[in-house]
Amino acid sequence: MSNIYNELGVSKEVYDFGENIISSLKERFDEIDKVAEYNQLKVIKAMQDNRVAVECFNTSTGYGYDDVGRDTLEKVYASVFKAEDALVRPQITCGTHALALALMSNLRPGDELLSPVGKPYDTLEEVIGIRPSNGSLAEYGVTYSQVDLLPDGSFDFDGIRAAINDRTKLVTIQRSKGYASRPTLSVEQIGELISFIKNIKPDIICMVDNCYGEFVEKIEPTEVGADMCVGSLIKNPGGGLAPIGGYIVGKAACVENAAHRLTSPGLGKEVGASLGIMQSFYQGFFLAPTVVAGALKGAIFAANVYEKLGFACVPNATEPRFDIIQAVTFNKPEGLIAFCEGIQAAAPVDSYVTPEPWDMPGYDSKVIMAAGAFVQGSSIELSADGPLRPPYTVFFQGGLTWYHAKLGILRSLQKVLDANLVKLSQLC
Ligand SMILES: *Cc1c(COP(=O)(O)O)cnc(C)c1O
Repeated sequence: MSNIYNELGVSKEVYDFGENIISSLKERFDEIDKVAEYNQLKVIKAMQDNRVAVECFNTSTGYGYDDVGRDTLEKVYASVFKAEDALVRPQITCGTHALALALMSNLRPGDELLSPVGKPYDTLEEVIGIRPSNGSLAEYGVTYSQVDLLPDGSFDFDGIRAAINDRTKLVTIQRSKGYASRPTLSVEQIGELISFIKNIKPDIICMVDNCYGEFVEKIEPTEVGADMCVGSLIKNPGGGLAPIGGYIVGKAACVENAAHRLTSPGLGKEVGASLGIMQSFYQGFFLAPTVVAGALKGAIFAANVYEKLGFACVPNATEPRFDIIQAVTFNKPEGLIAFCEGIQAAAPVDSYVTPEPWDMPGYDSKVIMAAGAFVQGSSIELSADGPLRPPYTVFFQGGLTWYHAKLGILRSLQKVLDANLVKLSQLC
């Protein structure tokens, strides 16, 4: 085994160091496998219950009336999420679009949107109008209020109670920390927050930004009271096979609002050709539980490797996981760059290119990104990125298989070692 790793640029010392760490992670990996097994069965049961058949993979064009594959897939999603209905469409271009759609279709002028978990994901700032933008909710007269988490990461229940008023129509709860420094929320915690909010005002719509969280646990937020769960198919639920798409699952009325906004009032879910993409949606969803398990193992392995070498990791080596993102802080630009070079070098696609830091729109420093993906921008595939500014933190996620994630991390460690950022003696 160490020979083939060597052929892929991983030295014996790095390989042995990795094997030692993996042997200490057996119990955690077993637990992840159990969750994946459960979720795999959940998906199969949903496919059986909704009578998925080969006809579902047929294509539709034009208006897409009576597209059985599309309509059945939406039933499968609704079953897996234990929700009343779902909208799962290639016409939803990405996660931000799905979230914008859910918000804009369920809010009306004069309503207020509340985030009780601090600042939402960057791209939502322009959707909401926190940063002024053409077509934002703010332009349509929807106001926004925010209650930050307390310093220890817990909910500010008093603050939330005070923020809820008679205009508060919708609450947005982001499950994953994304690229912020707050902790990711467990589904159980989300359930507690939703009960608290519904106790104060029962008719508030509780929406969960579920990006990066799907299939990490055995239950999803719709099972603990969320009225809507929203996410991207080029993350977890697309299983690496969906080439585009987003989903909204939840209460029938909320999903209907979204459908009427996505297509048109009066048309709703009835139109929307699937253009031959359905097989990849079904197959990706079928594979997603095991793909997510591989990504989780990779994240835990990375945290254990780098924490042992003295680098700060979030989440740390031992804490429980509620999403697939791993952050490692290098404190030096060379560490961030070496890590990304290693991830790139381990990729099945574009492994021969070297990632370079570059100026990106919307960032105040250069950013380095590494990805060798089958689907452009897919972040369920192995990828890493980070801004070139202190404390030089890399954000790392994905891996369609655990073995690829493992190779990526070992290759990154080799680069970090070759750049003299850790010493060979530290690997013993
Ligand atoms: C990725 C992500 C989004 C946005 O999804 P895109 O597909 O990149 O537009 C929103 N929220 C969270 C928490 C995310 O991780």
